[in-house]
Amino acid sequence: MTLPNRDSAVIWHPFTQMQTAPLPIPIVRGEGSLLFDASGRSFLDMISSWWVNLHGHSHPHIAQRVSEQLNTLEHVIFADFTHEPAVRLAERLLPLLPTNQRRVFYSDNGSTAVEVALKMAFQYWHNLGQPRRRVVAFEDAYHGDTFGAMAVGGRSAFTAPFVPFLFDVEYLPAPTPGREEAVLEQARHLFADDVAAFIFEPLVQGAGGMVMYEPEPIQALIRMARQHGALVIADEVMTGFGRTGKTFACHYLTEQPDLMCLSKGLTGGTMALSVTTCTAAIYEAFLSTDRYKTLFHGHSFTANPVACAASLASLDLLQKPETEQAIARIVQKHQTFADTLRQHPAVENVRQRGTILAFDLRVSGEGSSYFNSIRDVAYRYLLDRGILMRPLGNVLYLLPPYCTTNEQLDEAYSAILGLLDTL
Ligand SMILES: *Cc1c(COP(=O)(O)O)cnc(C)c1O
Repeated sequence: MTLPNRDSAVIWHPFTQMQTAPLPIPIVRGEGSLLFDASGRSFLDMISSWWVNLHGHSHPHIAQRVSEQLNTLEHVIFADFTHEPAVRLAERLLPLLPTNQRRVFYSDNGSTAVEVALKMAFQYWHNLGQPRRRVVAFEDAYHGDTFGAMAVGGRSAFTAPFVPFLFDVEYLPAPTPGREEAVLEQARHLFADDVAAFIFEPLVQGAGGMVMYEPEPIQALIRMARQHGALVIADEVMTGFGRTGKTFACHYLTEQPDLMCLSKGLTGGTMALSVTTCTAAIYEAFLSTDRYKTLFHGHSFTANPVACAASLASLDLLQKPETEQAIARIVQKHQTFADTLRQHPAVENVRQRGTILAFDLRVSGEGSSYFNSIRDVAYRYLLDRGILMRPLGNVLYLLPPYCTTNEQLDEAYSAILGLLDTL
């Protein structure tokens, strides 16, 4: 039996309608921005394998550090024990973050990083003896697939079966260009002294369709939240580690968040790891001789040393001048291609933030949604030409690893233009 056939006998894939999905593609090897299947066919990974990969697949430096760590200490309980990779990573991460971030709490994926941030926020108010319950979030937000993370995400077809089980959240539309004033006006009515937290994806809402907005309106919203004492949570699970052209999207802002969630690119896309960081004020609200003020949260693999070693190796690479130059190069290439796209009649709403370029395929009648058939047509067309992209409904986007060469970018761009001409 072939691997895809064996797979289809035993595996249940994520975000996949198993009845109608084609057999999965067996990948045997990755190098740079390329993935290779069993027959030697290559795919250009223009979505960084679900937004996680920064420096290319199977990077030798990360492989080396992971291997060394595996041979030294693979894992140890993280309550009452510690280890060099976890401490070193926190020491290296904090100086890269907004200056008010003082503590690192480890977990192992973006959703749990969000869960931890929410629990820190709710318990912060609980510990202060001033419980607050209201949460403000953006429509179309995506913060993960666990229940708390789903609750603060936008309501959609994906969350429909679970809506009765999700806590209530109050929504604002994202302050996209042209909508800023209306959103701020709505926010003035929403924010009050009983809002516990305001959560958002800074500048780019990923899964919601690569929706982009400018720094100014989010700063105004953060200030408004602050006036009422609400804790501000920046979910940088997708935007972190250079995607937006700066190390973190929050670096575009002068207002600082109280809590941050990081994952995906944290290990360079090698392993599952995440962190939730917070200010001294939040951390201190949990310090007490009263044991009930403890943050009772943890996972078996909290601060896994191998994952921390992968992150340290990824940071080594991220902080190289060559990587900074590669990011600037991709930003430039995207800008030029964006200008070409803007001329195309099949395209609208071309937008870019750093290394992320997105646009909408013009759809007539059918309406835009994740389930739009144009999505499947586009996905197939590009895949058949060796380009891995995963349109979000009628939204096409490029989110490449930083090692992607100009030739590889050109290859992806020309496949996209080919697709557009068939529409
Ligand atoms: C992907 C994502 C998450 C969830 O991360 P997982 O590791 O998939 O659980 C949370 N927030 C944002 C902004 C994301 O893009």
